[in-house]
Amino acid sequence: MRTVLKLGVAAAIVVSAYWAIVRVAEAKANALAGGHTFVLDQKSPEEWEAFAALRGRLRGWGESDLAATLFRLQERGDLWVAPDLAGGRSAIYVNALNLVRRVFIRRDELVAHGLPFPDLDVPESAQRTFETIRLAGTLFHELQHYDGLEDEDATYQREIRWYKELRERVPERLGGDERRLFEWAVDSAIKSAAAAREKAEESGLESGRRGQVPNVALPG
Ligand SMILES: [Zn+2]
Repeated sequence: MRTVLKLGVAAAIVVSAYWAIVRVAEAKANALAGGHTFVLDQKSPEEWEAFAALRGRLRGWGESDLAATLFRLQERGDLWVAPDLAGGRSAIYVNALNLVRRVFIRRDELVAHGLPFPDLDVPESAQRTFETIRLAGTLFHELQHYDGLEDEDATYQREIRWYKELRERVPERLGGDERRLFEWAVDSAIKSAAAAREKAEESGLESGRRGQVPNVALPG
């Protein structure tokens, strides 16, 4: 009996020590994402609706796989919202002590209100499409890391391939002006990822892309 009790106490100590370490890992992940983070679920209706809208757009572009993968990530509780994510990042993957693995999405990228580039002579709808494609591509990138891919260059390669496939598939279903604007949006996202890839090559670190004005000319 006494042995059983001792074992029970030992197990309780191990379990509580484990959870104490998990708490440390969670605090570390939260700090790396800029603090004040929260899990993405129905309890945050505005973010939840924006997440549903993002998946809806992805499905409309024939990207049901990515929409479903993001939904599974959310169901596992590993998709988080980061209101104060720094460094021009719209999303990041964080692995804290191998205990907490999360993708954080910057809140104002998910719930976008203002016009991204007020001075740019490109229609608002195209600017928003560009932002959505860039965010989706960045999430695709972070999902590669979540699945275990560490090499930055290989990750950027996959991300750029994702844009190119999108560019091949979607425009054929669109008419004149819509098609022209969609191509501009994808080309701008590719250019932005290529610039980030170059920076990553120099620093070895993934870099942010928010606020970069797309410098792809609108095809006439
Ligand atoms: Zn990366």
